[in-house]
Amino acid sequence: MKFYHEKSKDIPIIAEVDILVAGAGPAGIGAAITAARTGAKVMLIEKGAYPGGIATMGMMSHWSGATQCPLMNEIAERTMKSAALPIETNTGLTPFDCFWGIPHECLKQTLFEMLKQSGVTLQLHTMAVGVISDNNKVKGVITESKSGREVIMAQAVIDSTGDGDIAAFAGVPYLLGREEDNACQPATLMFRIGGVDYSRAVFPPSFETLIDLPKGEIQALGRVHLPSPAGHVLLYKNYLPGEVTVNMTNVTGIDGTDVRDLTRAEMICREQMEKIVLFLREYVPGYEKCYLTASGDMVGIRETRHFKGLYTLTPEDIVEATVFDDWIATRNFFNFDIHNIKGAGLDSNGEQKHFKAKGEYTIPYRACVPEKIDGLLLSGRNISGTHKAHSNYRVMGICLNIGVGVGTAAAVAVKSKCELRNVDITKVQQILLKNGTEI
Ligand SMILES: Cc1cc2nc3c(=O)[nH]c(=O)nc-3n(C[C@H](O)[C@H](O)[C@H](O)COP(=O)(O)OP(=O)(O)OC[C@H]3O[C@@H](n4cnc5c(N)ncnc54)[C@H](O)[C@@H]3O)c2cc1C
Repeated sequence: MKFYHEKSKDIPIIAEVDILVAGAGPAGIGAAITAARTGAKVMLIEKGAYPGGIATMGMMSHWSGATQCPLMNEIAERTMKSAALPIETNTGLTPFDCFWGIPHECLKQTLFEMLKQSGVTLQLHTMAVGVISDNNKVKGVITESKSGREVIMAQAVIDSTGDGDIAAFAGVPYLLGREEDNACQPATLMFRIGGVDYSRAVFPPSFETLIDLPKGEIQALGRVHLPSPAGHVLLYKNYLPGEVTVNMTNVTGIDGTDVRDLTRAEMICREQMEKIVLFLREYVPGYEKCYLTASGDMVGIRETRHFKGLYTLTPEDIVEATVFDDWIATRNFFNFDIHNIKGAGLDSNGEQKHFKAKGEYTIPYRACVPEKIDGLLLSGRNISGTHKAHSNYRVMGICLNIGVGVGTAAAVAVKSKCELRNVDITKVQQILLKNGTEI
C-alpha cells in the first residue's frame, strides 16, 4: 500500500468536560443521562443526526430480554405518551408486550428531551477519530465533523460506539467476532412495510417460530424463495396502522469496522429488500398488498470487537445467573442469540427456545474497565465478553443498563478524583440502589 504523510497541525480544544461519552446508542444514552443527573459536566458526541443508535437509526424497536433498569422504564413510558403516536395506538399494551416495541420515531424525540433536561451537551454529526493519551491514560478524544478536526478533553471517556472505536484507538487489546475465526454475526438493514392487513397477518418474531401457511411452512418457504444469505422470516408489529417492521435482510462475512465491508452490506441489503416484499406478497397472508415505506439510516451491525477487560463475561456466568460483587447492571435475562454466521437463521450454538438459565445475571464493573488503559470505560455491546456471552448481553435494554452503571461509576470516580479502575464500587452501587436498582 502507498502512503501519504500528513503534516501535523494545531487543532482547537473545543471543550473540557468531566465525562465525555462517545456514541448515543442505548449504552451512550444510559451513561450520559445518568452521569449528568449526578451533576457532572457531560458531553455526548454522536456521528449520526439523532440519538438512539440501533434503536432509532437502525430501526430496531424491539427491546428484547429483561433487565432491571428504572431509566429504561422512564424512556419507554415517556415515548408511549407521545402525542405524535397514532390515536388508534391506545391499545393498553406496554412497550414490552407482544413485540410491539418502543416506536423508534417517537423515541428520537424522547431522547432529545431527556438529554436536554438532564443537562447533557449533545453534539451530533461528530465522529470520534482518535484519542489523546498520556502514559496509557486517555485524556481526550479527537473528533471530525463539518467544523473540521477538533479536540474534547475529559477526566473520563466512556466508549459507547458499539464497535469500541475509542478503545481500539487507545490500544486496548481486543478480539474481533468469535474466538476461533474472527467471524462476526451477520448484518441486517431493518425496514418497514405498509399496506398489511393486521386482521389476517402473521408475525413470526423469532427464527424458531414455525407457521403453516397455505403454500407451506413460513421459515421453509423463506429458505427456498428468499435471496441467500437472506432466508428467514422475522416480522414485528408496530404502532402505525398497517405497518410492519421487517428484520429479514441478511449479509454474512462482514467486518463492521471496515468501511468497504459496510458499503457492501448496505448495497446487498437494499438489493434484498424488494425481493423480500415480493416474497411476502406471494406467500404470507395479509401481506398481499404490502409495500416499502421506510428503511434504517444504516445497516445494523450485531457484532465486532470484544475488548479485553479486567474480567471477561462468559456464557457460564449467564447460565449460572452470577451475581458479581462489583455488579453495575442487575437482573439481566435473555437467551443466547447467535445468528448463522454463514447463512440464514440461527447458529447451532445460538439456542433460543431451549435456552435454560438458573435465573437473572449481573454485569460486573470489571468487564467495563479495559486492561492497561486508564481514563476510559467500555459501555454496551463492546464490553469484555466472549462471542457467545455477547450474543446475550448485546440486547438494547441490557446495553442501556450497562450505560447507567458505567455513567454512575464515572461520575463517582471524577468526583472523588480517583482512577476509574479504583472507584469505590460500594458507593456506585449505593447510588444505583437509591435510583431504583434492585439486585
Ligand atoms: C439488525 C439488528 C437487530 C437487532 N435486534 C435486536 C432485538 O430484537 N432486540 C434487542 O434488544 N436488540 C437487538 N439488537 C442488538 C442491539 O440493537 C445492539 O446490540 C445495541 O443497540 C447495542 O447498543 P450500543 O449502545 O452498545 O451500540 P449502538 O446501538 O450500535 O450505538 C452506537 C452508537 O455510536 C455511534 N458511533 C459509532 N462509532 C462512532 C464514532 N467513532 N464516533 C461517534 N459516534 C459513533 C453510532 O452512530 C451509534 O449511534 C439488534 C441489532 C441489530 C444490528
